[in-house]
Amino acid sequence: MNPGESDGNRKMSDLSRKDQPSPTEPTRLHTDAPGVGTRPRVGIMGGTFDPIHNGHLVAASEVAWVYDLDEVIFVPTGRPVFKLDKAVTNAEDRYLMTVIATASNPKFTVSRVDIDRPGITYTVDTLRDIQRLRPDSDLFFITGADAVAEIMRWKDADTMWDLAHFVAVTRPGYSPSLPALNLPDQKVDMLEIPALAISSTDIRRRSAKGMPVWYLVPDGVVQYINKHGLYSRGGESDTD
Ligand code: NAP
Repeated sequence: MNPGESDGNRKMSDLSRKDQPSPTEPTRLHTDAPGVGTRPRVGIMGGTFDPIHNGHLVAASEVAWVYDLDEVIFVPTGRPVFKLDKAVTNAEDRYLMTVIATASNPKFTVSRVDIDRPGITYTVDTLRDIQRLRPDSDLFFITGADAVAEIMRWKDADTMWDLAHFVAVTRPGYSPSLPALNLPDQKVDMLEIPALAISSTDIRRRSAKGMPVWYLVPDGVVQYINKHGLYSRGGESDTD
């Protein structure tokens, strides 16, 4: 990985342009560029996924394209550390919705490492577990920019930088200033994903009101939500 110079709000010296993109169009990494390695490149899409939605899927697809990833492993969190006092849908439901949502994409897989590890979920443990599963790969941890804005408070933050490159995907109109976060140089990139106008919070709110969520989440996830009564009153959660 050779992230480097600034390109808009992103930092990647290993990007080379083949054609002229529009101002909002991301520039693709070319793995045949000098200095870019040949090891497998694996994305780790971390999130609570309560529920997974089409914005997450578009973000993973876009990051996979920009960084020329061979695989994106979706990793639903077990017990999210900053949500210990909030109701979160039980892990098996979130895992199964993630499997349903990703099933048709040959590059997407789902891992249980976070939901099977006892205790609170910390990303440093996620990265170590995936490193054990994909020992010779370069890892790219992908998650929401709002979560990344807190990253210096994460457990063993100093260690994480050696384990993966970080990609913070942002909603349109939301872009935290990375320099203000005092992050280590060239370890975190930001990428705006217009489809992230969709949010899990909004889907839960719509479901609770009986509003449709078709086309905000994959069809199978709509059916899973309805079949199991998630997000309506009485839906199961880990803190109920
Ligand atoms: P969150 O607080 O639920 O999410 C913060 C924001 O980021 C929300 O707007 C959320 O939108 C968005 N987001 C979350 N995951 C995303 C993804 N994969 N792609 C696009 N947007 C995403 O964050 P979280 O889900 O609890 O945590 C996100 C990841 O960071 C997880 O892997 C978690 O384990 C890790 N994390 C680690 C630590 C630590 O190690 N101490 C602390 C916090 C988080 P949606 O609600 O629409 O997804």
